[in-house]
Amino acid sequence: YFLIGIHSSDNQDQLNYIANYDSLTDLPNQLLLNQRLQSAIDKAARLRQNMITLFLDIENFKSINHTFGFEFGNKILKMVSDRLCSNLRDYDTVARFSGDEFVIIFENITDKEPADKIAQRVANLFDEPFLLENNSIDLNVNIGLCFFPSDGNDPKTLIKNANLAMNYAKKSNSAYTIFTGAIQDELTNKTIMESNLKKAILNNEFFVEYQPQVDTKSKKIVGAEALIRWNHPELKNIPPLDFIPLAEDTGLIHKIGKIVLNDALTQAKKWHDMGYSDLKLSVNISGVQLLQSDLIDTVTNLIDESGFNPQSLELELTETVLMQNIDLASSVMAKFKEKGIGFAIDDFGTGYSSFGYLSKLPLATLKIDKSFIDHIISNKNDAIITNTIISMAHNLNMRVIAEGVEQKDQYDFLHHHNCDTIQGYYFGKPQSAENFTTLLENGIEECETNTCTLSQDCAFLKEYKH
Ligand code: C2E
Ligand code: MG
Ligand code: MG
Repeated sequence: YFLIGIHSSDNQDQLNYIANYDSLTDLPNQLLLNQRLQSAIDKAARLRQNMITLFLDIENFKSINHTFGFEFGNKILKMVSDRLCSNLRDYDTVARFSGDEFVIIFENITDKEPADKIAQRVANLFDEPFLLENNSIDLNVNIGLCFFPSDGNDPKTLIKNANLAMNYAKKSNSAYTIFTGAIQDELTNKTIMESNLKKAILNNEFFVEYQPQVDTKSKKIVGAEALIRWNHPELKNIPPLDFIPLAEDTGLIHKIGKIVLNDALTQAKKWHDMGYSDLKLSVNISGVQLLQSDLIDTVTNLIDESGFNPQSLELELTETVLMQNIDLASSVMAKFKEKGIGFAIDDFGTGYSSFGYLSKLPLATLKIDKSFIDHIISNKNDAIITNTIISMAHNLNMRVIAEGVEQKDQYDFLHHHNCDTIQGYYFGKPQSAENFTTLLENGIEECETNTCTLSQDCAFLKEYKH
């Protein structure tokens, strides 16, 4: 009905309001924000001043809507907007950008006024909980900010860069981030890497290497850990830790994870058929894969296709992943256990774990992280910790693998303290399936990495072979 009384100035106001303001919070909407930003830019340019665009996002706001309903969520958003407005200067513009996102323009910034102070001031506004209908709601926010003129000179760029900085803050778990060129570069690199990753999947640039896991007493190979390798046409060998996190972020890990599983299962089946039927296969699974509801179907289908014995497969999950989703992890793991597939906890000792959960999860194997093994000889505490982990795991009926064993004295220590299995350069680096087959046929050779890397001119090897 606003349109009927075109000539009424009241209605004109109404129309104006609808076009420019957000009715829930009474704050400027995106349209008006753009205009305000443009005039702030013009003014700052004229007066040779700085201007700050701040982007604020409420963490996990969805869960408030889910728990308490949309009406409650709306009331909280209104309270947020009121708190922002009443605590900032009158001439700062607070706008509602979308759902739980707000943008604030700080004008008239002299060179000396530190951006940190402003960001901190806004962040501090969320220290106190929001009290509504007998509920006390704690909100965490992520804040990003950028400057005119250094980080952009039009509304679109300033909002984009403040938003990038906000996302960076979210990623790094910090209250706020100030935009820099480095953030921009990182994001550009990420975009390039992402398209490289997609190409790599299409062009089969991934392959799998296998690292022997050796029985401590008999020195026989009892397992192979499959480790992914990316042979990029120009950048050559990109280490997994340089692309797995991005693959997880972008969801490409699902395809990549399937490639590894498929290759590894097919290869390990060949080894079993050659007579090495006790060989275990270990495959790393990322937390993102664990969250995918059809992981169990994916894995069982690949096992069926390959004909590999599921009892010989062990999936490795890192401690951090397990801790983050403990309930989900334990229910998914129980389903795998029904199919005979076991689990190992990888990089043990590096997460913030409470030992309580160890007995609750169906874990067959515990892998002590390399960072402990590195110093078991030189650092008494690391030796004690390693020892304690071995005893604890044994008491819980778990097998223990020591990771990153490079030297004889480390091996001797672990042997003496009843560690079951050794994985490390001392017994062999990750290598091609072909070389691994030779290892299976000829047995492993012990080799200290500080003197050689299994190369032909290695003094240690020559002496050993003599
Ligand atoms: P991880 O699962 O803990 O694998 C062990 C890593 O330690 C491997 O690094 C291996 O090459 C290295 N390593 C083993 N023994 C020694 C040693 O004696 N000395 C030294 N300096 N290093 C040793 P890599 O292959 O670079 O893999 C790094 C990590 O990337 C893995 O750690 C795993 O978390 C992840 N990763 C590798 N392949 C996959 C995969 O297919 N899927 C997933 N989700 N993650 C993978
Ligand atoms: Mg592993
Ligand atoms: Mg590890």
